[in-house]
Amino acid sequence: MAARQCTRCAELAGTRTSVVFGAGNADAELMFVGEAPGANEDLQGLPFVGAAGKLLEQLLGEIGLSRSEVFIANVLKCRPPGNRDPQPGEIENCRPYLIRQVELIEPRVICTLGNFATKLLRGHPAGITRVHGEPEVRAIGNHTVRLYPLFHPAAALYTPSTLETLRADFTRLPAILALAPPVPIALTPAVEIEPVEPSAPPREAEQLGLF
Ligand code: URA
Repeated sequence: MAARQCTRCAELAGTRTSVVFGAGNADAELMFVGEAPGANEDLQGLPFVGAAGKLLEQLLGEIGLSRSEVFIANVLKCRPPGNRDPQPGEIENCRPYLIRQVELIEPRVICTLGNFATKLLRGHPAGITRVHGEPEVRAIGNHTVRLYPLFHPAAALYTPSTLETLRADFTRLPAILALAPPVPIALTPAVEIEPVEPSAPPREAEQLGLF
Protein backbone atom coordinates (compact mmCIF):
# COMPACT_ATOMS: atom_id res chain seq x y z
CA MET A 1 0.00 0.00 0.00
CA ALA A 2 1.26 3.46 -0.91
CA ALA A 3 0.27 5.17 2.36
CA ARG A 4 3.79 6.32 3.22
CA GLN A 5 3.97 8.52 0.13
CA CYS A 6 0.28 9.37 0.09
CA THR A 7 -0.59 12.81 -1.29
CA ARG A 8 -4.38 12.38 -1.48
CA CYS A 9 -4.83 15.22 1.04
CA ALA A 10 -2.55 18.01 -0.20
CA GLU A 11 -2.66 19.97 3.07
CA LEU A 12 -1.90 17.00 5.31
CA ALA A 13 0.81 15.70 2.98
CA GLY A 14 2.43 19.15 3.04
CA THR A 15 2.40 19.61 6.80
CA ARG A 16 3.02 16.14 8.28
CA THR A 17 6.36 14.87 9.58
CA SER A 18 5.36 11.24 9.22
CA VAL A 19 2.52 9.03 8.07
CA VAL A 20 1.29 7.24 11.20
CA PHE A 21 0.04 4.04 9.69
CA GLY A 22 -0.57 2.06 12.88
CA ALA A 23 1.33 -0.18 15.29
CA GLY A 24 1.05 -3.39 17.23
CA ASN A 25 0.38 -7.05 16.65
CA ALA A 26 -0.61 -7.60 13.01
CA ASP A 27 -2.42 -10.79 14.13
CA ALA A 28 -4.28 -9.08 16.94
CA GLU A 29 -7.73 -10.21 18.05
CA LEU A 30 -8.36 -6.70 19.32
CA MET A 31 -7.89 -3.52 17.31
CA PHE A 32 -8.37 0.10 18.35
CA VAL A 33 -9.20 2.88 15.91
CA GLY A 34 -8.68 6.45 17.09
CA GLU A 35 -9.14 9.76 15.32
CA ALA A 36 -5.86 11.09 13.94
CA PRO A 37 -2.23 11.51 14.99
CA GLY A 38 -1.41 14.44 17.25
CA ALA A 39 1.90 16.29 17.54
CA ASN A 40 3.75 13.51 19.41
CA GLU A 41 2.46 10.81 17.08
CA ASP A 42 3.44 12.86 14.02
CA LEU A 43 6.98 13.26 15.36
CA GLN A 44 7.45 9.63 16.38
CA GLY A 45 5.48 8.02 13.54
CA LEU A 46 3.50 5.94 16.07
CA PRO A 47 -0.13 6.16 17.22
CA PHE A 48 -1.20 7.03 20.75
CA VAL A 49 2.20 7.88 22.25
CA GLY A 50 0.98 10.93 24.20
CA ALA A 51 -1.19 11.29 27.30
CA ALA A 52 -4.24 9.63 25.70
CA GLY A 53 -2.01 6.70 24.75
CA LYS A 54 -0.76 6.34 28.32
CA LEU A 55 -4.36 6.16 29.52
CA LEU A 56 -5.20 3.60 26.84
CA GLU A 57 -2.24 1.49 28.00
CA GLN A 58 -3.34 1.78 31.62
CA LEU A 59 -6.90 0.69 30.82
CA LEU A 60 -5.56 -2.23 28.77
CA GLY A 61 -3.35 -3.23 31.71
CA GLU A 62 -6.36 -3.19 34.02
CA ILE A 63 -7.97 -5.93 31.90
CA GLY A 64 -4.74 -7.91 31.62
CA LEU A 65 -3.71 -6.84 28.12
CA SER A 66 -0.63 -5.02 26.90
CA ARG A 67 -0.23 -2.65 24.01
CA SER A 68 1.95 -5.13 22.12
CA GLU A 69 -0.94 -7.64 21.98
CA VAL A 70 -3.35 -5.30 20.19
CA PHE A 71 -3.22 -3.24 17.00
CA ILE A 72 -3.76 0.50 17.13
CA ALA A 73 -4.62 2.67 14.13
CA ASN A 74 -6.48 5.87 13.36
CA VAL A 75 -9.13 7.13 10.94
CA LEU A 76 -6.55 9.55 9.50
CA LYS A 77 -2.93 8.51 9.05
CA CYS A 78 -1.67 12.11 8.96
CA ARG A 79 -1.90 14.83 11.58
CA PRO A 80 -4.41 17.58 10.84
CA PRO A 81 -2.59 20.89 11.39
CA GLY A 82 -3.19 22.30 14.87
CA ASN A 83 -5.07 19.09 15.72
CA ARG A 84 -8.20 20.36 13.97
CA ASP A 85 -11.01 17.89 13.27
CA PRO A 86 -10.58 15.55 10.32
CA GLN A 87 -12.49 16.88 7.30
CA PRO A 88 -15.03 14.68 5.46
CA GLY A 89 -12.87 14.59 2.30
CA GLU A 90 -9.81 13.54 4.33
CA ILE A 91 -11.77 10.76 6.02
CA GLU A 92 -12.93 9.53 2.63
CA ASN A 93 -9.40 9.71 1.16
CA CYS A 94 -7.95 7.72 4.06
CA ARG A 95 -10.78 5.20 4.42
CA PRO A 96 -9.36 2.58 2.01
CA TYR A 97 -6.19 2.30 4.11
CA LEU A 98 -8.16 1.57 7.27
CA ILE A 99 -10.46 -0.92 5.55
CA ARG A 100 -7.44 -2.76 4.14
CA GLN A 101 -5.81 -2.83 7.59
CA VAL A 102 -8.94 -4.44 9.02
CA GLU A 103 -9.04 -6.98 6.17
CA LEU A 104 -5.39 -7.92 6.75
CA ILE A 105 -5.42 -8.02 10.57
CA GLU A 106 -8.85 -9.69 10.78
CA PRO A 107 -9.46 -8.75 14.41
CA ARG A 108 -12.37 -10.27 16.34
CA VAL A 109 -13.22 -6.99 18.00
CA ILE A 110 -12.61 -3.39 16.94
CA CYS A 111 -12.95 -0.67 19.56
CA THR A 112 -13.71 2.60 17.88
CA LEU A 113 -12.43 5.44 20.05
CA GLY A 114 -14.60 8.54 19.90
CA ASN A 115 -16.97 9.99 17.34
CA PHE A 116 -14.93 9.95 14.15
CA ALA A 117 -13.98 6.27 14.19
CA THR A 118 -17.41 5.24 15.48
CA LYS A 119 -19.38 7.13 12.82
CA LEU A 120 -17.07 5.95 10.06
CA LEU A 121 -17.03 2.25 10.91
CA ARG A 122 -20.70 2.05 11.91
CA GLY A 123 -21.64 3.98 8.78
CA HIS A 124 -24.11 5.94 10.88
CA PRO A 125 -24.11 9.48 12.32
CA ALA A 126 -25.13 8.48 15.88
CA GLY A 127 -22.67 9.97 18.35
CA ILE A 128 -20.48 8.12 20.84
CA THR A 129 -22.54 9.21 23.85
CA ARG A 130 -25.48 7.24 22.45
CA VAL A 131 -23.70 4.12 21.26
CA HIS A 132 -20.69 3.55 23.54
CA GLY A 133 -20.51 0.21 25.30
CA GLU A 134 -22.87 -1.56 22.89
CA PRO A 135 -21.16 -4.24 20.79
CA GLU A 136 -22.55 -4.96 17.36
CA VAL A 137 -21.60 -7.11 14.40
CA ARG A 138 -20.59 -5.25 11.23
CA ALA A 139 -18.85 -5.97 7.94
CA ILE A 140 -15.77 -3.82 7.42
CA GLY A 141 -14.56 -4.43 3.88
CA ASN A 142 -14.65 -8.20 3.51
CA HIS A 143 -14.23 -8.89 7.23
CA THR A 144 -17.04 -9.38 9.74
CA VAL A 145 -16.18 -8.10 13.19
CA ARG A 146 -17.68 -7.06 16.50
CA LEU A 147 -17.52 -3.28 16.79
CA TYR A 148 -17.36 -1.95 20.31
CA PRO A 149 -17.57 1.86 20.45
CA LEU A 150 -15.79 3.55 23.36
CA PHE A 151 -15.23 7.12 24.44
CA HIS A 152 -11.93 8.52 23.19
CA PRO A 153 -9.32 8.37 25.98
CA ALA A 154 -8.43 12.03 25.31
CA ALA A 155 -12.01 12.94 26.30
CA ALA A 156 -11.60 10.93 29.51
CA LEU A 157 -8.35 12.67 30.50
CA TYR A 158 -10.04 15.76 31.88
CA THR A 159 -13.58 14.56 32.61
CA PRO A 160 -13.79 12.11 35.53
CA SER A 161 -17.30 10.91 34.65
CA THR A 162 -16.18 10.06 31.09
CA LEU A 163 -13.20 8.17 32.50
CA GLU A 164 -15.53 6.22 34.77
CA THR A 165 -17.74 5.28 31.80
CA LEU A 166 -14.75 4.38 29.64
CA ARG A 167 -13.33 2.18 32.41
CA ALA A 168 -16.69 0.46 32.92
CA ASP A 169 -16.97 -0.22 29.16
CA PHE A 170 -13.37 -1.55 29.17
CA THR A 171 -14.19 -4.09 31.87
CA ARG A 172 -16.70 -5.74 29.46
CA LEU A 173 -14.06 -6.19 26.75
CA PRO A 174 -12.69 -9.58 27.91
CA ALA A 175 -16.20 -11.09 27.75
CA ILE A 176 -16.76 -9.64 24.27
CA LEU A 177 -13.40 -11.00 23.12
CA ALA A 178 -14.36 -14.44 24.46
CA LEU A 179 -17.52 -14.62 22.32
CA ALA A 180 -17.44 -16.95 19.32
CA PRO A 181 -16.34 -15.14 16.15
CA PRO A 182 -19.35 -13.49 14.50
CA VAL A 183 -21.05 -15.28 11.62
CA PRO A 184 -19.71 -13.63 8.44
CA ILE A 185 -22.11 -11.15 6.93
CA ALA A 186 -22.80 -12.06 3.29
CA LEU A 187 -21.35 -9.37 1.07
CA THR A 188 -23.08 -8.13 -2.04
CA PRO A 189 -20.45 -7.47 -4.70
CA ALA A 190 -20.22 -3.75 -5.43
CA VAL A 191 -19.86 -4.46 -9.14
CA GLU A 192 -21.46 -7.20 -11.16
CA ILE A 193 -18.73 -9.49 -12.36
CA GLU A 194 -19.28 -10.72 -15.91
CA PRO A 195 -18.91 -14.49 -16.20
CA VAL A 196 -15.89 -15.31 -18.36
CA GLU A 197 -15.06 -18.46 -20.28
CA PRO A 198 -12.32 -20.31 -18.39
CA SER A 199 -9.12 -20.26 -20.43
CA ALA A 200 -7.60 -23.09 -18.40
CA PRO A 201 -9.15 -26.26 -16.95
CA PRO A 202 -10.88 -25.56 -13.59
CA ARG A 203 -8.82 -26.09 -10.46
CA GLU A 204 -9.68 -29.07 -8.28
CA ALA A 205 -11.55 -26.99 -5.70
CA GLU A 206 -13.70 -25.50 -8.44
CA GLN A 207 -14.44 -28.98 -9.79
CA LEU A 208 -15.59 -29.95 -6.31
CA GLY A 209 -17.98 -27.01 -6.32
CA LEU A 210 -16.24 -25.28 -3.41
CA PHE A 211 -16.48 -21.86 -5.07
N1 URA B 1 -5.49 10.58 19.47
C1 URA B 1 -5.84 9.80 18.43
O1 URA B 1 -7.00 9.72 18.07
N2 URA B 1 -4.90 9.12 17.83
C2 URA B 1 -3.63 9.16 18.19
O2 URA B 1 -2.84 8.48 17.57
C3 URA B 1 -3.29 9.97 19.28
C4 URA B 1 -4.22 10.68 19.90
